[in-house]
Amino acid sequence: MSLKAFLKQMEKENEVLHVKDEISARFETSFIVKNFDSQGPILLFEKVKTYETKVVANVCGTRKRICAALDTDQDELYRKLTEAWRSPKKPKIVGDGAVKEISERDLSNIPILTHFARDAGPYITSAVVYAKSVDGNVENVSVHRLQVLDNKRLAIRLVPRHLFKLWQMAKEAGKDLEVSISIGVHPAILLAASSPVPFGMNEFDVANTLMSDRLRLVECKHVDAYAPAEAELVLEGKISATEEVDEGPFVDITGTYDVVRKQPVVKVMCVMHRRNYVYHGLLPSGAEHKLLMGLPHEVLIWEAASKVVPKVYAVNLSAGGSGWLHAIISIEKQLDGDGKNALLAAFAAHPSLKHAIVVDSDVDAFDASDVEWAIATRFQASEDLITIKNVRGSTLDSSADQETGLTTKVGVDATRPFSRPKEKFERAKIPVNESMEKLVRNLLGPGSKSFAHEFIYKISRN
Ligand code: MN
Repeated sequence: MSLKAFLKQMEKENEVLHVKDEISARFETSFIVKNFDSQGPILLFEKVKTYETKVVANVCGTRKRICAALDTDQDELYRKLTEAWRSPKKPKIVGDGAVKEISERDLSNIPILTHFARDAGPYITSAVVYAKSVDGNVENVSVHRLQVLDNKRLAIRLVPRHLFKLWQMAKEAGKDLEVSISIGVHPAILLAASSPVPFGMNEFDVANTLMSDRLRLVECKHVDAYAPAEAELVLEGKISATEEVDEGPFVDITGTYDVVRKQPVVKVMCVMHRRNYVYHGLLPSGAEHKLLMGLPHEVLIWEAASKVVPKVYAVNLSAGGSGWLHAIISIEKQLDGDGKNALLAAFAAHPSLKHAIVVDSDVDAFDASDVEWAIATRFQASEDLITIKNVRGSTLDSSADQETGLTTKVGVDATRPFSRPKEKFERAKIPVNESMEKLVRNLLGPGSKSFAHEFIYKISRN
């Protein structure tokens, strides 16, 4: 179970576009990825100027591909993720792995991309970082951006979460924190690493459950850390207990620049990679970034909302909301007021959420125009709007109060009110048989409806 194996599978399903022209790692690759972006194919850049290595992008850029990687479908995706969070399973440690084929001394041969105009420089954006606590009791895996300072040093952005805590514990013991930094891993590992599991749970164990016990780890050579045996590329490093530098500017999920902060330096001890490895470049604020970061939080919203309404059909942390700030939730309600409870549950489950909309199951939560239709025909601001002032939201929201970080949250209940005659809200249908539906599908051709849309279309008819 490697990225290579997944790419091979996707190749068969016509999901990979090969870019054969020579492209620069500075701006040109990211420009091409940005122009394809949402619902676009995996892009394989075969010739990157001055480098030997190929670059792959937008690997996890669609829900369809994420489902394929986890060998599931959209109906079962959330359940599969929650089950893995609840039943992590230790992967086997093996003596040797493909990632150990070649060793290099520094970063100079890696085609690390520079993405946007004001970025501080080249950034590694798909890095899965493993570390264990100095007492050896806690292991953690998480995704971090890494700014290239020189051939041997990176700056790492540590949001005050689990890896930050491990680094602080090491600092208090007067030690650097040893890490493995894996780039080019199977999507299941990326999803596990961005899952909101508690401190103390090893995300590699979650990945192993997602991969049906087929994840294999190897020990690093120069640091006390594990890495996936079939990763494309692994950097062995130490997060310095003492050295900090300015990190940024860099573009975050909203497509705006994050502020510059003092962040710790990673000293790179060694680089190992597969022969003919492929470098995974993930476009900040691109479809892949939004899905990997947002999808696990859709699961949290789905779980919470499922407790207050009879059924939650879909949760969409929409692309327009940067995959983070806006949720569209399609539900089946039993009573008026259920929609508002679903909104409150969503805000509690995902504290960064700013605006949320609930719709009925006959509305496609993945189609912005359909959602707008629900607001146009089923929503009355005087009855169906919730505003919550002065609450903590996302630090990524540029419009939040910059001093206090407080924001206003808005919930929109665009479900049909039961107090009014049902017929007023009925969506008109044209009565045809299945062969006519098939004919139209063929006329429109593949790709005319998104994968997600077909899913909703199916369930709304049941
Ligand atoms: Mn963790």
